Amino acid sequence: MKNYLRIAIQKSGRLQEGSMTLLKESGLAISNGRGQLKTQAHNFPVEILFLRDDDIPQYIEDNVADVGIVGENVFVEKNKKNTLIKRLDFAKCRLSLAISKSEDYKGLSSLQGKNIATSYPVIVRKYLDANNIKAGIHEISGSVEIAPGIGLADAICDIVSTGSTLLSNGLKEVETVMLSEAVMIAGPELSDEKKEILDRLLFRLEAVNSAKNNKYILLNCPDEAIEKITSVIPGMKSPTVMPLSRKGWSSLHSVVNENAFWEKIDQLKSFGAEGILVIPIEKMIR
Ligand code: ATP
Ligand code: ZN
Repeated sequence: MKNYLRIAIQKSGRLQEGSMTLLKESGLAISNGRGQLKTQAHNFPVEILFLRDDDIPQYIEDNVADVGIVGENVFVEKNKKNTLIKRLDFAKCRLSLAISKSEDYKGLSSLQGKNIATSYPVIVRKYLDANNIKAGIHEISGSVEIAPGIGLADAICDIVSTGSTLLSNGLKEVETVMLSEAVMIAGPELSDEKKEILDRLLFRLEAVNSAKNNKYILLNCPDEAIEKITSVIPGMKSPTVMPLSRKGWSSLHSVVNENAFWEKIDQLKSFGAEGILVIPIEKMIR
Protein backbone atom coordinates (compact mmCIF):
# COMPACT_ATOMS: atom_id res chain seq x y z
CA MET A 1 0.00 0.00 0.00
CA LYS A 2 1.21 3.46 -0.85
CA ASN A 3 2.24 5.58 2.11
CA TYR A 4 0.56 8.92 2.57
CA LEU A 5 1.36 11.70 4.99
CA ARG A 6 -1.90 12.52 6.75
CA ILE A 7 -2.26 16.26 7.36
CA ALA A 8 -5.05 17.47 9.65
CA ILE A 9 -6.40 20.97 9.04
CA GLN A 10 -9.35 22.92 10.41
CA LYS A 11 -12.70 21.93 8.87
CA SER A 12 -14.11 25.46 9.08
CA GLY A 13 -13.03 28.61 10.84
CA ARG A 14 -10.24 31.11 10.81
CA LEU A 15 -7.46 28.68 9.95
CA GLN A 16 -9.25 26.88 7.13
CA GLU A 17 -8.60 29.19 4.23
CA GLY A 18 -5.01 30.01 5.18
CA SER A 19 -4.18 26.32 5.57
CA MET A 20 -5.70 25.37 2.22
CA THR A 21 -4.04 28.30 0.44
CA LEU A 22 -0.63 27.44 1.84
CA LEU A 23 -0.93 23.79 0.81
CA LYS A 24 -2.15 24.74 -2.66
CA GLU A 25 0.62 27.29 -3.13
CA SER A 26 3.01 24.50 -2.23
CA GLY A 27 1.82 22.78 -5.38
CA LEU A 28 -0.59 20.27 -3.84
CA ALA A 29 -3.56 19.61 -6.11
CA ILE A 30 -6.36 19.33 -3.57
CA SER A 31 -10.02 20.14 -3.75
CA ASN A 32 -11.74 22.27 -1.12
CA GLY A 33 -13.10 19.84 1.36
CA ARG A 34 -16.36 21.50 2.31
CA GLY A 35 -18.56 18.80 3.71
CA GLN A 36 -15.84 16.23 3.12
CA LEU A 37 -13.97 14.38 5.84
CA LYS A 38 -10.81 13.87 3.84
CA THR A 39 -9.26 14.32 0.44
CA GLN A 40 -6.10 13.23 -1.34
CA ALA A 41 -3.73 15.33 -3.40
CA HIS A 42 -3.57 14.10 -6.99
CA ASN A 43 0.10 14.90 -7.35
CA PHE A 44 1.74 14.47 -3.93
CA PRO A 45 1.55 11.64 -1.37
CA VAL A 46 -0.60 13.43 1.20
CA GLU A 47 -4.07 12.98 2.54
CA ILE A 48 -5.86 15.99 4.09
CA LEU A 49 -8.19 15.36 7.04
CA PHE A 50 -10.72 18.10 7.89
CA LEU A 51 -11.24 18.27 11.67
CA ARG A 52 -12.17 20.65 14.46
CA ASP A 53 -8.99 22.52 15.29
CA ASP A 54 -9.31 21.76 19.02
CA ASP A 55 -9.27 18.02 18.27
CA ILE A 56 -6.19 18.04 16.04
CA PRO A 57 -3.51 17.70 18.78
CA GLN A 58 -5.28 14.63 20.21
CA TYR A 59 -5.72 13.03 16.78
CA ILE A 60 -2.02 13.50 16.17
CA GLU A 61 -1.09 12.00 19.52
CA ASP A 62 -3.39 9.05 18.73
CA ASN A 63 -1.71 8.63 15.35
CA VAL A 64 -4.89 9.24 13.37
CA ALA A 65 -3.10 12.15 11.67
CA ASP A 66 0.67 12.54 11.20
CA VAL A 67 0.90 16.33 11.20
CA GLY A 68 -1.54 19.20 11.55
CA ILE A 69 -2.01 22.93 11.28
CA VAL A 70 -3.36 24.66 14.41
CA GLY A 71 -3.01 27.96 16.23
CA GLU A 72 0.02 27.98 18.53
CA ASN A 73 -2.45 28.80 21.34
CA VAL A 74 -4.24 25.48 20.77
CA PHE A 75 -0.95 23.58 20.55
CA VAL A 76 0.17 24.99 23.93
CA GLU A 77 -3.23 24.68 25.59
CA LYS A 78 -3.81 21.04 24.65
CA ASN A 79 -0.30 20.05 25.70
CA LYS A 80 -0.40 16.69 23.86
CA LYS A 81 2.52 14.61 22.57
CA ASN A 82 3.06 17.01 19.67
CA THR A 83 6.09 18.97 18.54
CA LEU A 84 6.04 22.32 16.82
CA ILE A 85 7.88 21.83 13.54
CA LYS A 86 7.21 25.06 11.65
CA ARG A 87 5.71 28.49 12.19
CA LEU A 88 3.50 29.32 9.24
CA ASP A 89 3.22 33.10 9.34
CA PHE A 90 -0.58 33.48 9.20
CA ALA A 91 -3.50 33.71 11.67
CA LYS A 92 -1.42 36.01 13.85
CA CYS A 93 -3.16 36.99 17.04
CA ARG A 94 -2.55 37.31 20.74
CA LEU A 95 -4.10 35.93 23.88
CA SER A 96 -4.77 38.84 26.19
CA LEU A 97 -6.25 39.60 29.56
CA ALA A 98 -9.00 42.21 29.54
CA ILE A 99 -11.09 43.86 32.22
CA SER A 100 -14.04 46.21 32.26
CA LYS A 101 -13.24 49.63 30.75
CA SER A 102 -14.49 51.39 33.86
CA GLU A 103 -12.16 49.53 36.18
CA ASP A 104 -8.77 50.76 37.37
CA TYR A 105 -5.76 48.69 36.43
CA LYS A 106 -2.55 48.90 38.45
CA GLY A 107 -0.69 45.96 37.03
CA LEU A 108 -1.22 42.22 37.43
CA SER A 109 -1.75 42.56 41.17
CA SER A 110 -5.17 44.06 40.31
CA LEU A 111 -6.19 40.50 39.33
CA GLN A 112 -5.28 38.99 42.71
CA GLY A 113 -8.27 37.00 44.00
CA LYS A 114 -10.39 37.79 40.95
CA ASN A 115 -12.27 35.45 38.60
CA ILE A 116 -11.07 35.08 35.02
CA ALA A 117 -13.20 33.57 32.25
CA THR A 118 -11.32 31.89 29.40
CA SER A 119 -11.26 29.03 26.90
CA TYR A 120 -7.55 28.64 27.66
CA PRO A 121 -7.33 27.55 31.31
CA VAL A 122 -3.94 25.82 30.97
CA ILE A 123 -2.20 28.81 29.42
CA VAL A 124 -3.81 31.26 31.85
CA ARG A 125 -2.95 29.16 34.89
CA LYS A 126 0.68 28.91 33.80
CA TYR A 127 0.85 32.67 33.26
CA LEU A 128 -0.73 33.50 36.62
CA ASP A 129 1.52 31.03 38.45
CA ALA A 130 4.62 32.50 36.81
CA ASN A 131 3.53 35.93 38.04
CA ASN A 132 2.49 34.79 41.53
CA ILE A 133 -1.14 35.76 41.06
CA LYS A 134 -3.84 33.70 42.72
CA ALA A 135 -7.07 33.98 40.78
CA GLY A 136 -10.02 31.78 39.95
CA ILE A 137 -10.31 30.45 36.41
CA HIS A 138 -13.72 29.90 34.93
CA GLU A 139 -13.52 27.80 31.77
CA ILE A 140 -16.06 28.61 29.07
CA SER A 141 -15.93 27.47 25.47
CA GLY A 142 -17.24 30.51 23.58
CA SER A 143 -18.43 34.13 23.81
CA VAL A 144 -15.89 34.74 26.55
CA GLU A 145 -16.07 38.52 26.06
CA ILE A 146 -19.59 38.75 27.47
CA ALA A 147 -18.61 37.13 30.80
CA PRO A 148 -17.81 40.34 32.74
CA GLY A 149 -20.98 42.06 31.49
CA ILE A 150 -23.22 39.28 32.82
CA GLY A 151 -21.38 39.02 36.11
CA LEU A 152 -19.76 35.67 35.35
CA ALA A 153 -16.21 36.90 35.84
CA ASP A 154 -14.14 40.00 36.67
CA ALA A 155 -11.77 39.58 33.76
CA ILE A 156 -11.30 37.49 30.64
CA CYS A 157 -8.42 35.99 28.71
CA ASP A 158 -9.20 35.61 25.03
CA ILE A 159 -7.88 35.90 21.49
CA VAL A 160 -7.44 39.44 20.24
CA SER A 161 -6.42 40.61 16.80
CA THR A 162 -7.61 44.21 16.51
CA GLY A 163 -9.32 44.67 19.86
CA SER A 164 -12.62 45.87 18.39
CA THR A 165 -14.61 42.97 19.88
CA LEU A 166 -13.26 43.87 23.31
CA LEU A 167 -14.18 47.53 22.91
CA SER A 168 -17.70 46.79 21.77
CA ASN A 169 -18.17 44.68 24.90
CA GLY A 170 -16.97 47.45 27.20
CA LEU A 171 -13.61 45.82 27.89
CA LYS A 172 -10.00 47.01 27.75
CA GLU A 173 -6.93 44.91 27.08
CA VAL A 174 -4.48 45.01 29.98
CA GLU A 175 -1.88 42.26 29.44
CA THR A 176 -0.63 40.11 26.56
CA VAL A 177 -0.37 36.52 27.74
CA MET A 178 0.99 34.97 24.54
CA LEU A 179 1.49 35.68 20.85
CA SER A 180 0.19 33.11 18.42
CA GLU A 181 0.24 32.22 14.74
CA ALA A 182 -0.62 29.12 12.74
CA VAL A 183 1.94 26.36 13.28
CA MET A 184 2.57 22.91 11.89
CA ILE A 185 2.76 20.25 14.57
CA ALA A 186 3.74 16.59 14.33
CA GLY A 187 3.39 13.45 16.37
CA PRO A 188 6.27 11.73 18.12
CA GLU A 189 6.84 8.86 15.68
CA LEU A 190 6.80 9.17 11.94
CA SER A 191 8.04 6.36 9.70
CA ASP A 192 11.11 7.13 7.60
CA GLU A 193 8.93 7.18 4.54
CA LYS A 194 6.55 9.76 6.06
CA LYS A 195 9.47 11.82 7.33
CA GLU A 196 10.78 11.98 3.81
CA ILE A 197 7.40 13.22 2.50
CA LEU A 198 7.22 15.75 5.34
CA ASP A 199 10.70 17.08 4.50
CA ARG A 200 9.65 17.63 0.91
CA LEU A 201 6.52 19.45 2.08
CA LEU A 202 8.46 21.62 4.56
CA PHE A 203 10.88 22.57 1.79
CA ARG A 204 7.94 23.78 -0.29
CA LEU A 205 6.32 25.64 2.59
CA GLU A 206 9.59 27.44 3.21
CA ALA A 207 9.82 28.43 -0.47
CA VAL A 208 6.27 29.81 -0.41
CA ASN A 209 6.65 31.76 2.82
CA SER A 210 10.09 33.18 1.98
CA ALA A 211 8.68 34.40 -1.31
CA LYS A 212 5.85 36.19 0.51
CA ASN A 213 8.30 38.02 2.75
CA ASN A 214 10.60 39.12 -0.04
CA LYS A 215 10.32 41.21 -3.17
CA TYR A 216 12.29 41.37 -6.39
CA ILE A 217 13.69 44.86 -6.82
CA LEU A 218 15.04 46.50 -10.01
CA LEU A 219 16.53 49.96 -10.20
CA ASN A 220 18.75 52.15 -12.33
CA CYS A 221 21.82 53.78 -10.83
CA PRO A 222 25.02 55.56 -11.77
CA ASP A 223 27.90 53.02 -11.98
CA GLU A 224 29.74 54.64 -9.08
CA ALA A 225 26.78 53.92 -6.77
CA ILE A 226 26.72 50.15 -7.41
CA GLU A 227 28.93 49.29 -4.46
CA LYS A 228 26.97 51.37 -1.93
CA ILE A 229 23.64 50.09 -3.20
CA THR A 230 24.88 46.50 -3.04
CA SER A 231 25.69 46.97 0.63
CA VAL A 232 22.07 48.02 1.28
CA ILE A 233 20.36 45.34 -0.84
CA PRO A 234 22.85 42.47 -1.10
CA GLY A 235 20.16 40.01 -2.28
CA MET A 236 20.57 36.27 -1.99
CA LYS A 237 24.22 36.14 -3.03
CA SER A 238 24.87 39.46 -4.71
CA PRO A 239 22.83 41.64 -7.07
CA THR A 240 22.76 41.22 -10.82
CA VAL A 241 24.23 44.29 -12.56
CA MET A 242 23.63 44.96 -16.24
CA PRO A 243 24.82 47.96 -18.22
CA LEU A 244 22.20 50.36 -19.55
CA SER A 245 22.72 51.58 -23.09
CA ARG A 246 23.22 55.00 -21.54
CA LYS A 247 26.90 55.30 -20.64
CA GLY A 248 27.83 55.35 -16.94
CA TRP A 249 24.50 53.80 -15.83
CA SER A 250 23.50 50.29 -14.80
CA SER A 251 20.39 48.33 -13.99
CA LEU A 252 20.69 46.51 -10.65
CA HIS A 253 18.44 43.58 -9.66
CA SER A 254 18.20 42.17 -6.17
CA VAL A 255 15.89 40.73 -3.52
CA VAL A 256 14.74 42.75 -0.55
CA ASN A 257 12.84 41.85 2.57
CA GLU A 258 9.34 43.27 2.49
CA ASN A 259 9.53 44.75 5.99
CA ALA A 260 12.91 46.36 5.42
CA PHE A 261 11.94 47.83 2.07
CA TRP A 262 10.49 51.16 3.17
CA GLU A 263 13.42 51.84 5.47
CA LYS A 264 15.89 51.22 2.65
CA ILE A 265 14.18 53.16 -0.08
CA ASP A 266 15.33 56.61 1.10
CA GLN A 267 18.88 55.39 1.38
CA LEU A 268 18.78 53.95 -2.15
CA LYS A 269 17.44 57.23 -3.52
CA SER A 270 20.13 59.22 -1.74
CA PHE A 271 22.75 57.04 -3.49
CA GLY A 272 21.24 58.01 -6.85
CA ALA A 273 18.89 55.08 -7.54
CA GLU A 274 16.04 55.88 -9.95
CA GLY A 275 13.21 54.03 -11.66
CA ILE A 276 12.80 51.60 -8.79
CA LEU A 277 10.47 48.67 -9.48
CA VAL A 278 9.35 46.19 -6.81
CA ILE A 279 7.82 42.93 -7.98
CA PRO A 280 6.28 40.00 -6.06
CA ILE A 281 8.10 36.67 -6.00
CA GLU A 282 6.10 33.48 -6.27
CA LYS A 283 8.56 30.91 -4.89
CA MET A 284 11.98 31.47 -3.34
CA ILE A 285 14.58 28.75 -2.79
CA ARG A 286 17.70 29.89 -0.99
P1 ATP B 1 -14.35 26.56 16.88
O1 ATP B 1 -13.50 25.54 17.52
O2 ATP B 1 -15.71 26.62 17.49
O3 ATP B 1 -14.36 26.49 15.40
P2 ATP B 1 -12.26 28.45 17.51
O4 ATP B 1 -12.31 29.77 18.24
O5 ATP B 1 -11.45 27.38 18.09
O6 ATP B 1 -13.76 28.01 17.26
P3 ATP B 1 -11.47 29.92 15.20
O7 ATP B 1 -12.19 31.12 15.66
O8 ATP B 1 -11.67 29.47 13.81
O9 ATP B 1 -11.78 28.64 16.04
O10 ATP B 1 -9.92 30.18 15.47
C1 ATP B 1 -8.97 29.22 15.13
C2 ATP B 1 -7.59 29.77 15.45
O11 ATP B 1 -7.34 30.93 14.65
C3 ATP B 1 -7.43 30.25 16.89
O12 ATP B 1 -7.07 29.19 17.74
C4 ATP B 1 -6.34 31.28 16.75
O13 ATP B 1 -5.06 30.67 16.72
C5 ATP B 1 -6.60 31.89 15.38
N1 ATP B 1 -7.42 33.12 15.49
C6 ATP B 1 -8.58 33.27 16.15
N2 ATP B 1 -9.05 34.52 16.04
C7 ATP B 1 -8.18 35.18 15.27
C8 ATP B 1 -8.13 36.52 14.76
N3 ATP B 1 -9.06 37.40 15.05
N4 ATP B 1 -7.09 36.85 13.97
C9 ATP B 1 -6.14 35.96 13.68
N5 ATP B 1 -6.13 34.70 14.13
C10 ATP B 1 -7.14 34.29 14.90
ZN1 ZN C 1 -11.72 25.56 17.83
